[in-house]
Amino acid sequence: MNGRQGAADLALFGAPPLFTAPKSTSNLVQPEFGRFLDYAQAAFVTPGTPPGAVTKLLEERLAQFHEVAHCVSFCSGFWALAVTMIALARPGRREVVMPSLTYRRMADVVAWTGMLPRFCEVDSSTLAISAATASACLGDDTALLLGVHPIVNCCDVEGLVDLATQQGIPLLFDSVESVYEACDSGRVGGFGYAECFSLHASKLLNGFEGGYVTTNDRALASTLASLRDGGTLQRGALDARLGDTHAAMALANLDELDAQVLRNRERYYHYRKLLPAVPGIRLIDFDETHRTSYKNIVVEQLDNWPLSRSLTIDILNAERVLARAYYAPPLHSKPMAYPYIPADLPQTDRLAGRFALMPCGDFVTIDDIDTVVALLSFIRAHADEIRARVETAEVNV
Ligand SMILES: *Cc1c(COP(=O)(O)O)cnc(C)c1O
Repeated sequence: MNGRQGAADLALFGAPPLFTAPKSTSNLVQPEFGRFLDYAQAAFVTPGTPPGAVTKLLEERLAQFHEVAHCVSFCSGFWALAVTMIALARPGRREVVMPSLTYRRMADVVAWTGMLPRFCEVDSSTLAISAATASACLGDDTALLLGVHPIVNCCDVEGLVDLATQQGIPLLFDSVESVYEACDSGRVGGFGYAECFSLHASKLLNGFEGGYVTTNDRALASTLASLRDGGTLQRGALDARLGDTHAAMALANLDELDAQVLRNRERYYHYRKLLPAVPGIRLIDFDETHRTSYKNIVVEQLDNWPLSRSLTIDILNAERVLARAYYAPPLHSKPMAYPYIPADLPQTDRLAGRFALMPCGDFVTIDDIDTVVALLSFIRAHADEIRARVETAEVNV
């Protein structure tokens, strides 16, 4: 900790920050540049290559990777979700049952489709929607059930599949956070009617930007492709195609994905070794009985941690440790400019205050993790002094 002695030595109170470059909580992986160029070259230099050839190759490779029959690429995860929701929704019904403790733009996606989000609770052990939390929200107006995987491990895939089958409700998974994972019944990608993914640079599989849908339903795949390519939706036509340059980037990263996961594992193991020495901070473990990507570091702030989560995050951010709150505020408690169904979700409210993401991904070294954990210990050791300084408003942010 560079000879820091007390609270005054924290960047929050004006000292120089611990890191010169910010330490992100996203993967931000870049493939070997030559590999990207090789894929890109096929689109731009090889005579006779039709437009979209690289994208088509990516779709084939992703279908193999997820062990499904069809993959339909999109320009983003957002549009992959919106178009698939429209294609799957039960006609004449308006509600999409989904968790509130989730991706911040999920309700915006539903709003764009013209349907209404009906927010459900999450299970406290997985932090995700489950059959039990979803079933309480199903009703005569349910158009679609949206199973969303949490940032670490998987949601209750088998339970949701059974529930949707029993109730005859279309089931879509948002599997953006579980590209690499498997659950009891196998590899993520082939469950429900379809699964949606993102290729944004901050996600496990970086295509600069982009998204895709996997399904075993041939008719659905062809409907999705035609809606994406200018087919008419109620709100007008859309062009949501993925470009070949993006596909080339995603292919290069797909080739290197196993190597990336090994690096993620090394970082995760290092956190797992060091964090037990910091009382009040609990690391969320990856379920190693299934295939997993070790991609994000999520910690729970326990009741014996001496400072609030927001102050803790402010202290870390001032040091350029870009820790952030896990899916907070939850969607049902945010002001919204469009209609939704108000919900009372005490469990979600409680959980939304407890978790945070810590630095991970390709720009975080093992030494950086030593420094981040030492900083957490320092914060704990000087908590009283920090609180006293904040109360007298000597904060420099
Ligand atoms: C990022 C994200 C999306 C949206 O993907 P984009 O490609 O950024 O539009 C959807 N769902 C989840 C869970 C995400 O994290």
